[in-house]
Amino acid sequence: MKAKVDPEKCIGCGLCAQVSPEVYHMEAEVAVAAPGELMEDQLEPAKEGAEQCPVDAITIS
Ligand code: SF4
Repeated sequence: MKAKVDPEKCIGCGLCAQVSPEVYHMEAEVAVAAPGELMEDQLEPAKEGAEQCPVDAITIS
């Protein structure tokens, strides 16, 4: 499973990085997800961050 932020959709609110800093961080006003396969202990935080995103910019697949 990988987390991906669509930079076209992200409005830079910072919520995902606040809720799940182990997966998401902000880079120049846009969130970026940890690259590559999520580790097991990153899965729940990744989903939590995606659920909080107000514009559904995060996909986990
Ligand atoms: S919660 Fe969504 S809109 Fe806000 S910074 Fe994260 S990806 Fe961007």
